[in-house]
Amino acid sequence: MPGRNFLFVPGPTNVPERILRAMDRAMEDHRSSAFPTLTAALLHDLKKVFRTTAGQAFIFPATGTGGWEAALVNTLSPGDRVLAPRYGQFSHLWIDLAQRHGLRVDIIDVEWGEGAPAERIEEILTADTQHEIKGVLVVHNETATGVTSDIAAVRAAMDAARHPALLYVDGVSSIGSLEFRMDEWNVDLAITGSQKGLMLPAGLGLVCASPQALAARERAKCPRVFFDFGDMIKANATGYFPYTPSIPMLYGLRESLDMLLEEGLENVCARHHRLADGVRAAVRAWGLKLCAKAPRWHSDTVSAILVPDGFNAADVIDVAFRRYNLALGAGLARLAGKLFRIGHLGDLNELMLLGAIAGAEMAMRDVGIKVTPGAGVAAAAEHYRGTAAPLPPRPAAAPSPDAPLPGGGKPATPRAAVRT
Ligand SMILES: *Cc1c(COP(=O)(O)O)cnc(C)c1O
Repeated sequence: MPGRNFLFVPGPTNVPERILRAMDRAMEDHRSSAFPTLTAALLHDLKKVFRTTAGQAFIFPATGTGGWEAALVNTLSPGDRVLAPRYGQFSHLWIDLAQRHGLRVDIIDVEWGEGAPAERIEEILTADTQHEIKGVLVVHNETATGVTSDIAAVRAAMDAARHPALLYVDGVSSIGSLEFRMDEWNVDLAITGSQKGLMLPAGLGLVCASPQALAARERAKCPRVFFDFGDMIKANATGYFPYTPSIPMLYGLRESLDMLLEEGLENVCARHHRLADGVRAAVRAWGLKLCAKAPRWHSDTVSAILVPDGFNAADVIDVAFRRYNLALGAGLARLAGKLFRIGHLGDLNELMLLGAIAGAEMAMRDVGIKVTPGAGVAAAAEHYRGTAAPLPPRPAAAPSPDAPLPGGGKPATPRAAVRT
């Protein structure tokens, strides 16, 4: 199919040209004397994206799921109790992983479309006077439902209960896109993957551990080999890895961190918020509803859009893909067929999102959903116009296309306008 594929699943996200080029390189010796320069700077800058200075960063050749596993097995023992609210497919899968490692999970079932219930967590922890609960597992941004939870509120609840459990946070679809403050929120284990906000292919599981989490490692008895923090800490201390790292992924991560830090994390979050507000304006204009039950849960990285009764969201996704080359996210598990998702995280701007909104609108009409043609696009476009930053200054005047070239002679064709 000619033209671009419009990739709007919430992960993997679009990999920018800069990162693609940075990854396109020959392999090198990961035990060379030059290698530690790369590793040390990566571990250092990765912590900035998690907003931690106290924490220790880990880079595993894995995915977000590997990050979940690393966080749990390094800090807990089989039979340990952990508390976990469940409000979507990702919180469900993390709980399943914990159970398969022999942890006893106290599950708080929450309606899908809501987020972490800080008050319930406080009640349960307050009642646990023997401090049997060793950890609280929270998914910051539930990608299946487009719901963002308030991690600061969960930490406040744990503190109010004066409970020593560790706070584990899945930030796979939030870190690098939404505000995430590991130190300020006192998160003990923070987890992400490479293929969401970090704009890379899947292939890295990234974890930061607080000093308390590293101390818990001393008594944690879950078996671990590949994901052992100890082996990683030892090798990383000299700038190496305990096994072969993925060289392209590390160079890609280098470029990704540079891009995020150049834009500035505050600006990255503000951009995601503004783009997401445009998508929400489109959803309102279509007369549709988000899966997120209230504005306090709205996610700035993914919108899960409910189709009207009598329609199958899978048909919308299928038509969008086959007819318009647009990839939308599917409804997962109990939400299958009920909604489609627009991922709006990573390397995106207004016009890319308008393309996705237009494609979703066309596909919905194609399957018979009566949205007004152009309504979503118009609402989002007006939002973007109304909230646009002041025009950046024009670049310094370019030489006239007729001016002689430095080496003499004249250009054969006029030069293209200078782009920034
Ligand atoms: C994508 C995702 C995961 C799973 O990550 P994988 O990289 O597919 O293992 C976990 N949690 C959340 C919130 C996610 O969005």
